[in-house]
Amino acid sequence: APHRQTVMHVKAYFDYDPWTTRSWDILHVISQDDPSWWQAYRDGDEENQPLAGLVPGKSRTGQWFRNTLFFLFLNAGKHWYGRKSKKQKKKSLTTTIKNDCDDVLTYEEMSLYHQPANRKRPIALIGPTNSGHDELRRRLLSIEPEKYAVAVPHTTRSPRIHERNGREYHFVNRSAFEADLAVGKFIESGEYEKNLYGTSTDSVRHVVNSGKICLLCLHTRSLKVLRSSNLKPYVIFIAPPSQERLRTLLAVEGKTPKPEELKEVQEKAREMEQTAGHLFDCSMVNAEPEHTFHELRRLIDRLDTEPQWVPPPVWL
Ligand code: 5GP
Repeated sequence: APHRQTVMHVKAYFDYDPWTTRSWDILHVISQDDPSWWQAYRDGDEENQPLAGLVPGKSRTGQWFRNTLFFLFLNAGKHWYGRKSKKQKKKSLTTTIKNDCDDVLTYEEMSLYHQPANRKRPIALIGPTNSGHDELRRRLLSIEPEKYAVAVPHTTRSPRIHERNGREYHFVNRSAFEADLAVGKFIESGEYEKNLYGTSTDSVRHVVNSGKICLLCLHTRSLKVLRSSNLKPYVIFIAPPSQERLRTLLAVEGKTPKPEELKEVQEKAREMEQTAGHLFDCSMVNAEPEHTFHELRRLIDRLDTEPQWVPPPVWL
């Protein structure tokens, strides 16, 4: 029961209830005496369920996971990992997380994060083009500019007439950009019309130090880099709604996407879930932008008061 000392906290990479859970469970493991079956209780269940339950230990999760859960979730058709072929699973999971069990990601040790006063975790909004995550970021910035900010990116293009160095961009030459890139100073970068663009960790840290919440829109490949840094972004996946709903939403913006483009948004979302779903802290389906925006703001407000679990190290 919860009064017993917790031996470790883990994030469980499988859902017990795939129909309702849209974020991963944190388990308080209170006994690992039996390596096959640990005693644990789910974070948040302390009061409602004073009795700890048994969860498969790491030594048997691989087998148990494959034999039982894959079958279940495959049938349920809704689990992160249920749709993958064995080969895909192996590739995406072993490259991202060191796992002492086998090829299946099961648990990861987590620690309670202590947010230093006046420093907020950056928020990373992830999603395929047209899922609406860019628009959500824009709205957050415009509704509370004193609370949110974006990191000033670097670029190798020349400043335009009204642009100031350090305001719209940090304007640098190509060799300086490439040198910074080579030593890992950027959390993301890309090329557009023969110019390089990128966001540096220093730019993000500058926003964090100012006391504002840094809003990032990132590719999934940046999440891995960020995870091992001390920036600890809270990652929110914005998933597109059904193709029919997406078509209606885009029509409001004056866009008339072809059916294959709608399909592509969904396929891209699925691919992102499959390759990086374990790096998302939370996900939301953006079926009703007004509602999503409201939920997003509530979620961000909750981060101030609710305990947050992060992989070590826990400092900002
Ligand atoms: P502009 O040069 O007009 O300011 O930006 C042109 C394009 O550069 C944008 O539409 C975007 O595709 C890309 N870009 C701007 N900032 C960034 C950034 O921080 N990172 C990356 N990867 N691309 C950017």
